[in-house]
Amino acid sequence: MLILVCNVGSTSLKYKLFDMPCTDILVEAKTERVGRNDAIFTYRNNQNGFSEKLEGLSVPGYADGIRLFLRYLLGEKSGALKSMDELEAIGFKTVLAKGYYGVHELTDEVLAAMEAYVTVAPAHNPPYIEAIRVFRSLLPDKLMVGCFETAFHTTIPLSRRIYALPYEWYEQYGICRLGYHGASHGYIARQIRKRAGEHFRLISCHMGGSGSICAIEDGKSVDTSFGFSLQTGIPHANRAGDMDACVIPFLLTQGLTMDQIMEGIGKKGGLLGISGVSNDLRDIQDAAENGNERAALAIDAFCDSVVKYIGAFYAELGGMDYLVFTGGIGENSVLVREKICSRLSCLGVKFDREANLAVRGEGRISTSDSPAEVLVLPTNEEVGIAQIIHEKVSAGELSP
Ligand code: AMP
Repeated sequence: MLILVCNVGSTSLKYKLFDMPCTDILVEAKTERVGRNDAIFTYRNNQNGFSEKLEGLSVPGYADGIRLFLRYLLGEKSGALKSMDELEAIGFKTVLAKGYYGVHELTDEVLAAMEAYVTVAPAHNPPYIEAIRVFRSLLPDKLMVGCFETAFHTTIPLSRRIYALPYEWYEQYGICRLGYHGASHGYIARQIRKRAGEHFRLISCHMGGSGSICAIEDGKSVDTSFGFSLQTGIPHANRAGDMDACVIPFLLTQGLTMDQIMEGIGKKGGLLGISGVSNDLRDIQDAAENGNERAALAIDAFCDSVVKYIGAFYAELGGMDYLVFTGGIGENSVLVREKICSRLSCLGVKFDREANLAVRGEGRISTSDSPAEVLVLPTNEEVGIAQIIHEKVSAGELSP
């Protein structure tokens, strides 16, 4: 079953084509700098080895980017498909929609529900809505599926999802903890199930440009650091994460506008906000090594926040069998993993420093006698999405 998964960023389009249930990637491609005249398009067909990189392209909008990819997908040398009829479905790592929390066909109603939450996910929903509309206009008969990032977290008990706010706000406006990164945490949970069987207590740390910690019991999400919006939880690259809501009205009284405050929280906050150096941990690590105190503070604040969530989730789970690091920071930052794990011996982590230094890609960074096994596992959100769509189509719950 050929399934294309499309990951839409504010200036990028990434694609992976799978022939499910096999999880090998047949084609992978991306367009970076959408909206500019110096866009970069990379395309690789893993079946026949065709690969190409185009630089300095004019890609004014998503429609141009998507048309370009489809031309390559059907191309004589580059192509993996003879016609679009061979493609069963297109899946999207959609973020959230009002009232839709699972896996849904992207109908007009679902797109309208995504529009209704543009203010909750201003950086994520508008690009997805636009790209999905382009795909629907180009391929009107194709099954398009949104795998909402909130879907994996619907198993969190209400006592942990509810905010201590007037209950009517939950009923009337749906204000509660929703959780994100469902495709990533769900993929990690499925990987751990292959090792552990049905019963396991896992804390999954997805740490990248956007980060979240998830408590997982027997494969199901039972808590997450993310809340109603993506502005919550651990510090992100540019977003603040958890903060006191009363900072907002206070800053309004100090003469800042709502737009300025939201820019501070959502674009100029996070690792960038504290460090003043960059939103990229690599730059911040370099600056800290060279004595920049704010850079060191940003790293410490990030690690403290992760340790706090791990401790809380350990208590909620009643223990921890597996701790997994994933995402760009989790997979690559030796320093961050060391700073976090060296503080977890009280939670049954026997950290292996040498293994942490040596790990590339996937590997164990705890000793073989560690009560909790600590792993670095590369996430694969696109595979997770293709797996879910394949399951749903096979079960007749979605029909191409
Ligand atoms: P992601 O959003 O999962 O692609 O993660 C992107 C982030 O991972 C980057 O902004 C960096 O902060 C971080 N990152 C990637 N490679 C490294 C590395 N080698 N060392 C430290 N951080 C890294």
